[in-house]
Amino acid sequence: MNDLRLGGLIAERSTIEVKGVTIGGKEIILMGGPCAVESSLQMSLSAETVKKAGGKILRGGVFKPRTSPYSFQGLGQEGLGYLLQAAKEQDLLCVTEVIDAPSLELVVDKVDIIQIGARNMQNFELLKLAGKINKPIILKRGLSATIGEWLLAAEYILASGNPQVILCERGIRTFEPSTRNTLDLSAVGVAKELSHLPVIVDPSHAAGRRDLISSLSKAAIAAGADGLLIETHPNPAEAVSDGPQSLTPEQFIQLAGELGVVAKSVKRAFTCGWKGDTLETLRTQIDRVDQSIIELLADRMQIVRKVGDQKRLDRVKDTVREKEVMLRLVHLATERELSPEIVKKIYPLIFEFGVQSQIKNKLAQDKEFEHRSFQ
Ligand code: PEP
Ligand code: MN
Repeated sequence: MNDLRLGGLIAERSTIEVKGVTIGGKEIILMGGPCAVESSLQMSLSAETVKKAGGKILRGGVFKPRTSPYSFQGLGQEGLGYLLQAAKEQDLLCVTEVIDAPSLELVVDKVDIIQIGARNMQNFELLKLAGKINKPIILKRGLSATIGEWLLAAEYILASGNPQVILCERGIRTFEPSTRNTLDLSAVGVAKELSHLPVIVDPSHAAGRRDLISSLSKAAIAAGADGLLIETHPNPAEAVSDGPQSLTPEQFIQLAGELGVVAKSVKRAFTCGWKGDTLETLRTQIDRVDQSIIELLADRMQIVRKVGDQKRLDRVKDTVREKEVMLRLVHLATERELSPEIVKKIYPLIFEFGVQSQIKNKLAQDKEFEHRSFQ
């Protein structure tokens, strides 16, 4: 590897400092967040999760280099705002991917770290541009790149003047179909043997499935990784991209709680930020749930009014339908270990307000009709 003039191994490993966070030091740096930025709420919740877990850096793609041109391509500038706001709320640093010169220009002064994705690892013009800025670059290993090619891609950034490169192993394409890619953990050791740059691991894009993320993350730390980049989403089932590999908030926090012992066993350190619920955090959670309840009730009332438009005034109350709904909800409540008594108390009221609003609406419509007919 003669051409690793700047990235080749030297006596001292390099560390990268960003606003008080050191990548490549003793501490394992956890980075997390959704694959793609989707909304302000999604980013706030993700940032909360990352913070709770003891993560230092919030991720979220606003420019998504997707395999299919018909897949979601990212929210662009609007998404960048959500990422920045959420990171600020939780006092986290943030990272996002750039795909070309315009996207780099848009984010360069706003985010703390810039990611160059696997699909752009050998986009040499982009690498050269990344070399001209003064921000750390996470350089992902290409889908089918050898370690040598990956290090030479890093060399492009270094040779253009930016010494702050963080290598990221994210799985490579092999003949094995049971995972999205094959996480090449030997690459961590090999890259560190050949280069002084910090190396982090992204188990999410390697595995493509959330059940493997916990063990792969621990294995990555044991293999010498300086940090982890993990996808998490407040509701993975609804994620616009990479839902199946995204951890739920609970899984992300649980994993973080288990990383400390692994880090310690290889003379590294990681502190999970989660110290258990406090009265304040529990009340915040309740406030959020209450807000959803009211919003959903408002939605329900609107639909109920539309249903009213389809009924005759003397048939507004439909007791058969009410009984059916009640039965179903009592059953659901029992399944979810919620007392059915709550449903039995609340729902008659909800039905009653619905019926009242349908009647009021109908009477108002009739009046309007009469008024118009007599004009
Ligand atoms: C990503 O991190 O969202 C991403 C697209 O990763 P990769 O470039 O490794 O596929
Ligand atoms: Mn992704």
